[in-house]
Amino acid sequence: MFFFVRHINAQDHFVKNSLTVPLGETYVKINIYERSGSNITFFSPHHNEQIALKLARTAVLERGGRLVEVESFDENGDPIRRLNFNVDGRSHSIDPNRIFTANGRNCSGLTDKAGLAIKNFAEQLLNIIFQPSAGLPQNERMLVAVHNNSDSSEKPTGRNAADLTAISFAGEINSSQPKRTEFQDQAAGVYLSNTETDTDNFVFLSTPQYIGYFANKGFNVVVQKPLGQSDDKRCSVDDGSLSVYSAQKEILYICLEADAKNGAVRQKQMLDAIYDLADGSFDSTSIASGGFRNGRVRNK
Ligand SMILES: [Zn+2]
Repeated sequence: MFFFVRHINAQDHFVKNSLTVPLGETYVKINIYERSGSNITFFSPHHNEQIALKLARTAVLERGGRLVEVESFDENGDPIRRLNFNVDGRSHSIDPNRIFTANGRNCSGLTDKAGLAIKNFAEQLLNIIFQPSAGLPQNERMLVAVHNNSDSSEKPTGRNAADLTAISFAGEINSSQPKRTEFQDQAAGVYLSNTETDTDNFVFLSTPQYIGYFANKGFNVVVQKPLGQSDDKRCSVDDGSLSVYSAQKEILYICLEADAKNGAVRQKQMLDAIYDLADGSFDSTSIASGGFRNGRVRNK
């Protein structure tokens, strides 16, 4: 009996590849989930944010794209946010979303040797997310980070201002608000939707060009400060996050933040909106001159 075996490109199917990347004397597992069908790259740096990474994984399975996931567990096997690593036998810890710029790495206050280990790790991780030329791989046009943040309404009164919410990026509007919000140095502005009931849910954009798109869909939207204004060495501005790195490299970056407890439905809607945006025709090659164009995605 003969079986005709058709040659199948592996990417036609959902595939998972894992790489181990050294961080000092420790190895960090980076998982890459892929399937053809979309030109989106997702990134999940925080392994404890399970709603976000599971939704992104399912989205890639169902609609295509690529998800780069940083794996981190504690000694009990529970997923954790930070990466623990050793240099010269000494233990250190770093937030994997504070490693991508030299300025941000300096903000972590680690030893020179630990800082160098983080720099080497960050460069390898960037080579996985991007091509070595610091652009997304050919035909990949959009970088989308997925995150969850803890429920601000559950924190004791007075602590809420320091939480990562859409409002925490807004400047002072009137005296009834806190004098300074935690993240206002990073944002050009904030759109608060009256249809969003949880300020933990918001879309963070590296460029204002898609504010209207996400606002029309009822999401809160935070827009990062433009590159010229964010060339600022304060750790409150250049914190080494991938959003700052992407802005410096003029890569279209979108971050989907949702409540760690109740945000799944909204985050799924955000992911659907991302696919609709990516499926539409837009010129993503230039943030400065970008925007929707009629016709095909341009390959420059
Ligand atoms: Zn996160």
